[in-house]
Amino acid sequence: MDDVLVRERVREMLATGQLPAGDPAKLWAGPSMGKPCTICGETIRTPTEYELDFASPVVTLLLHPRCYAIWNEERGRGTAASAEHAS
Ligand SMILES: [Zn+2]
Repeated sequence: MDDVLVRERVREMLATGQLPAGDPAKLWAGPSMGKPCTICGETIRTPTEYELDFASPVVTLLLHPRCYAIWNEERGRGTAASAEHAS
């Protein structure tokens, strides 16, 4: 999936609450288990996958390194944008 499409999907999933925007309780980078990525849905075939565990609500995300990086950028952007809007 194209980076632009992944970014659009991340924004949409953050907006609808399908993806958490907070800090994960636990974050691992480990060898890929060949499972589908939570964001783009494609099988993770990169050597490394990211697993993010959230405590409340309990959510586990399995992500490509790329999808993790985009999520990390977009969740920060949302907070910064609303803070800017408030001031
Ligand atoms: Zn992905």
